[in-house]
Amino acid sequence: AVRIHGLERSFGERKVLQGLELDIRAGEFVALLGRSGSGKSTLLRALAGLDHNVYGKGLLSAPANVSVVFQDARLLPWKRVLDNVLLGLTGSDGRERGRAALDEVGLADRESAWPVELSGGEQQRVSLARSLVREPELLLADEPFGALDALTRIRMHKLLRKLCAAHRPAVLLVTHDVDEAIELADRVAVLEEGRITADVPVELDGPRTHGSKEYAELRESL
Ligand code: ATP
Ligand code: MG
Repeated sequence: AVRIHGLERSFGERKVLQGLELDIRAGEFVALLGRSGSGKSTLLRALAGLDHNVYGKGLLSAPANVSVVFQDARLLPWKRVLDNVLLGLTGSDGRERGRAALDEVGLADRESAWPVELSGGEQQRVSLARSLVREPELLLADEPFGALDALTRIRMHKLLRKLCAAHRPAVLLVTHDVDEAIELADRVAVLEEGRITADVPVELDGPRTHGSKEYAELRESL
């Protein structure tokens, strides 16, 4: 679904991405780790088609049908929940699909609420519904659970796993949380000095339990 070969991006003198290589297959879930300022959001913007300055600077091919989830849900405060999900969506069955998406994230009964009436986690669930109702080939998520408490985050992990199993988008999830990466992803990649410096498949047998030998080895290899 995604091919990146030799991607470059600079801001003035500052080289942020330097010959970056990364492929993501259809339906594959890749988690991306990297220090603050390493260029993760820059990469996501390029993949989302939001950065015109990357054209011609290395090969970048990504599907046209991309959805992005940010750390803050970015709902429009003057639109009700269902209308936020439907934003820009065309087709006569839109409302039905929007309702079905809200049902999937467990918010069917809140479709007429205003965004301010929802908690942070609920807003993020609306943001997930808004992304998935578009049936993206590629889902980009930039620290989507970073602002949530630990318990809500665990619930969001379960929800995201369920949604991904049902819709099978390719996913690139940026996170600062190694455990989250290992728990959710098929592969964990590390962005450092403009390149992918580690790209490790997650092949833990059975539950991805902390403290297991495989888990420790995987963490060690990043
Ligand atoms: P974080 O984990 O803190 O979100 P990040 O890995 O997402 O960090 P980016 O936002 O991609 O980092 O930024 C990478 C580098 O590019 C930073 O040094 C940043 O200052 C620089 N940068 C990003 N966008 C711009 C811009 N529009 N103009 C100038 N510099 C920029
Ligand atoms: Mg960022």
